[in-house]
Amino acid sequence: MIIIMKPTASEADLTRVIERVRMHGLDVHLSRGEERTIVGVLGNVQGLDRNAFEVMPGVESTVRITQPFKVASREFHQTDTIIDVRGVKIGGERLVVIAGPCSVESREQILETARAVKEAGAHILRGGAYKPRTSPYSFQGLGEEGLKLLAEARELTGLPIITEVMSPDEVPLVCEYADILQIGARNMQNYRLLQAVGKTQTPVLLKRGLSSTIQELLMSAEYILSNGNYDVMLCERGIRTFERYTRNTLDINAIPVLKQISHLPVIADPSHGTGKWRLVAPVARACIAAGADGLMVEVHPNPDLAWSDGAQSLRPDRFTRLMAELKPLAAVVGRAL
Ligand code: PEP
Ligand code: MN
Repeated sequence: MIIIMKPTASEADLTRVIERVRMHGLDVHLSRGEERTIVGVLGNVQGLDRNAFEVMPGVESTVRITQPFKVASREFHQTDTIIDVRGVKIGGERLVVIAGPCSVESREQILETARAVKEAGAHILRGGAYKPRTSPYSFQGLGEEGLKLLAEARELTGLPIITEVMSPDEVPLVCEYADILQIGARNMQNYRLLQAVGKTQTPVLLKRGLSSTIQELLMSAEYILSNGNYDVMLCERGIRTFERYTRNTLDINAIPVLKQISHLPVIADPSHGTGKWRLVAPVARACIAAGADGLMVEVHPNPDLAWSDGAQSLRPDRFTRLMAELKPLAAVVGRAL
């Protein structure tokens, strides 16, 4: 339930409303708009008497949130959430492109890629230091050394950095370096991890699980939001279907669905969504046309030699071309790049 305060409501009116909510053992989330304040009631509101709130001084109305995800729902927060990451605004009119290698492999590799993607117009640098690999024998990432190299690349280019965190006990360390924490598809329902990143103030990019529904993705986002971290963006990265020609099937439907039922920014990942570099550009364009707020694209200076996901990584010159193609397309859908 949300409680909409009148523009004329006083702080004392608001305090009384909050106290009353807390009397029921529930918590609140306040949105202070220019005009009015909205009180989001968090927790199990069944049995709560809406009328009792509606007659309180300063209260204009109450709205029941019908979706099982509350803070993530568009009913809770009507306008698009815009997340500010070191001055890069995610979810606003401007599209945001996150680019970089699947894994940080070496100093030369990450610095060269960072320079190239910056030059091409990317806004955020990606790179995995802790890698969730299907096989325990595959490269698992450089760990903290990788985080240090990412920080050096940020220093060099000014690009904010995003990197994956895989376990709750690594959250404090990754937070020391990362501007955005990535929760990988395989960890989308790792609830302890979601709670741990929810307790930080570092923005989070939550990737959709390999076989997760849109509702499950939003329920996972709710775990982060309900722990107090409101800077959550959602990532459609393809789901597992019967189709084997591509690594995954990027669910294009998810983009407009998420934009309709949630206020959180939506990022699309055509690299993992297809698994093939030749498909990355066309699917990236489709994602922007469908209303994505941005893209995450894997770029490697030498994809043939990449330690992970080379087959879906773009060479820097191809990434540069993609960025040029996206510019006019962005304008057509009322966005800027
Ligand atoms: C990645 O971004 O490199 C990655 C491992 O993605 P996902 O969790 O979507 O498979
Ligand atoms: Mn990858």
